[in-house]
Amino acid sequence: MRLGAPLNLTDQLFPETIVPVLVPLPSDRPYSYTVPEGMAVRPGAIVQVPLGPRQVAGVVWDGPIDAIDAKKLRPITHVFECPPLDETMRRFIDWVAEYTLSPPGLVVRMALRAPAAFDPEPWITGIEATGEAPDRLTAARQRVIAAAEEAHAWSKSGLAHAAGVSVSVVDGLIKQNVFRITRFPPPPAVAEPDTGYGRATLSPDQAKAAGDLVAAVEQASFAPILLEGATGSGKTEVYFEAVASALDQGKQVLILLPEIALTQSFIDRFDARFGAPPAEWHSDVPPRRREAIWRQVAEGRVRIVAGARSSLFLPFQELGLIVVDEEHDPAYKQEDRTFYHARDMAVVRASLGGFPVVLASATPSVETRVNAGSGRYAHVRLKARHGDAALPELALVDMRRHPPARGRFVSPVLATEIKKTLQRGEQTLLFLNRRGYAPLTLCRVCGHRFQCHNCSTWLVDHRLRGILQCHHCGFSMGRPEACPECGTLDHLVACGPGVERIAEEIVEDFPDARTIVLSSDIAGGPRRLRRELEAVADGEADIVIGTQLVAKGHHFPKMTLVGAIDADLGLANGDPRAAERTFQLLHQVTGRAGRTGLASHGLIQTFQPQHPVMQALIAGDPENFYESEIDERRRSALPPFGRLTAIIVSADTRADAENHAREIRKAAPEAPEIEMLGPAEAPLAVVRGRHRFRLLVEATRRAPIQSYLRATFAKAPRPRGSVQVQIDVDPQSF
Ligand code: ADP
Ligand code: ZN
Repeated sequence: MRLGAPLNLTDQLFPETIVPVLVPLPSDRPYSYTVPEGMAVRPGAIVQVPLGPRQVAGVVWDGPIDAIDAKKLRPITHVFECPPLDETMRRFIDWVAEYTLSPPGLVVRMALRAPAAFDPEPWITGIEATGEAPDRLTAARQRVIAAAEEAHAWSKSGLAHAAGVSVSVVDGLIKQNVFRITRFPPPPAVAEPDTGYGRATLSPDQAKAAGDLVAAVEQASFAPILLEGATGSGKTEVYFEAVASALDQGKQVLILLPEIALTQSFIDRFDARFGAPPAEWHSDVPPRRREAIWRQVAEGRVRIVAGARSSLFLPFQELGLIVVDEEHDPAYKQEDRTFYHARDMAVVRASLGGFPVVLASATPSVETRVNAGSGRYAHVRLKARHGDAALPELALVDMRRHPPARGRFVSPVLATEIKKTLQRGEQTLLFLNRRGYAPLTLCRVCGHRFQCHNCSTWLVDHRLRGILQCHHCGFSMGRPEACPECGTLDHLVACGPGVERIAEEIVEDFPDARTIVLSSDIAGGPRRLRRELEAVADGEADIVIGTQLVAKGHHFPKMTLVGAIDADLGLANGDPRAAERTFQLLHQVTGRAGRTGLASHGLIQTFQPQHPVMQALIAGDPENFYESEIDERRRSALPPFGRLTAIIVSADTRADAENHAREIRKAAPEAPEIEMLGPAEAPLAVVRGRHRFRLLVEATRRAPIQSYLRATFAKAPRPRGSVQVQIDVDPQSF
């Protein structure tokens, strides 16, 4: 074992006999437990503790202990034989909790997502029921047997955790031969990356950029760095040098990717460069594999992880570099329980750990761009595409002057280009960020619109599956033939396009072309999507019609035409980030073309050719866009020049939600430079049958927003009944 020091329980022991333990529940602070005689724990140790009638895993914390009557405290049940969460990780968890106003228990839960890995043997054993009955069937034993029936258990601690009992109950059942331990072949050893393998010869421009990154890694101190360069300029090749340098120093490295399930091409590329794939960490990795990775990260044996945002909470021991690829990507924002932005938290983790963090993008977020402009972040740039690959030539199609035929969406100009591309034997990508066939269905006779029964949204027509579906709650119904309102037959019409409808139009016009639709609706999930993307890269399709899924990171050598069907789509929603998002998405999707030196172009269909986003796109210089957008944000004190927090109050009834939101508003203290607005109905007023109201907190950049919010919530009544409150610090869209 190279990194994780062997467990030495006499080291930094708690002298106290009462210790705080943070348990993965929505509690505000650690609970106190006693340390039984003969047991040794230290901060960061993963332990099992009783909680009410159950046993849960928690982490021995540090800091003050609640003054409670020691006689009432219960003892820690078990110390897992597992490297403790280090000091940096504990401070990181505290920091995330403090910043996002989440209970620390919910944040620590993200770090404890692999319960079966807390014991050292997990991936070589399994636990199997023998069919024998125990001598006595206690409630705890019953729970173990039920848990084992529900899911396969890999280890004693995993099974104990699933059942919420102590490991000794499982031990007892094994002793009685109710369960037996089985052995699995050990997982394939993690291949060590070879930093000298497959190294590219860098261009002078690239070599200089790589030199800057490597210097930062060698410094081994906190340094946030924006690595900016057009798609295809070699950012990945360049940051691989920084990765190699960190690995050479014996450090662990984390590469964050926005859509890991779709990044087989990234894994292959890493493999080609380092002679071994990185460990993958995301929701699509099978549980047993995940547990093995968690354990090996904790032991320092896995040195390189490529993962989704949740990999920030892996128990690294010697993390020395984080790379956030496509740092502007909205997928980095988690909006579920703990609302956090993985890019921002990556910077925090690097700062606490004292190492560099590289944010890579062709179209950085405005936040990051401002930080680079002010010198807070270093700014490393790559100027041109690598080799003879040129960026595609972009042109706008003014849809007012070149309208498609009625009921169609591809302009004659774009259709002509598609035809020429087909004749050259090259590929076309048609981009429309809308799943399904049509976003709205209405009755031509009475005007009835199909709305979700649970949400304030229209149902989306998914014609391939024959259903109308809500994209917020999943509610669906068969597409009827008669209007449910007026009963008229055969007068329901689809309004507006989705990718399926574009496909219908294309197949009509180009019946001999091989056309494929790629969106998250694809049957077979991420694996199937990966295969389809590979097939496209291998030239097995002529025309690809896709949502934003196809915008990211894929390398399609024969793709020379990109058409944006409705470039204005994202601009309409009144979100302050609408212009930024639209610019990033269109820049990125048109960047899919011309990656291998073939002449290529992009046609952008728009009704607003004068819009600054459209103008900046065809000028081919992101600088134009950033300058005007940053000016605009500064003038209107929008992020990052001001800060926002959204508070969403939801409840089963409209009145409950609104009343509670008003109570919160009343509880808000007077504070200079901070103002609470609202409540107003949230942009999605009803979701899954829950009514939603929103308060918006506007503050200056330096205002103490967290303490203001804490004061507010300390004074506001606790949510009761169906009322729920979500706090979204730095919301990404609103
Ligand atoms: P980015 O990450 O900026 O989009 P990549 O690193 O993916 O750019 O590079 C684009 C393409 O050019 C890739 O196929 C990559 O292998 C190739 N490439 C970039 N730099 C070099 C180099 N120095 N030598 C050989 N190939 C390179
Ligand atoms: Zn719905």
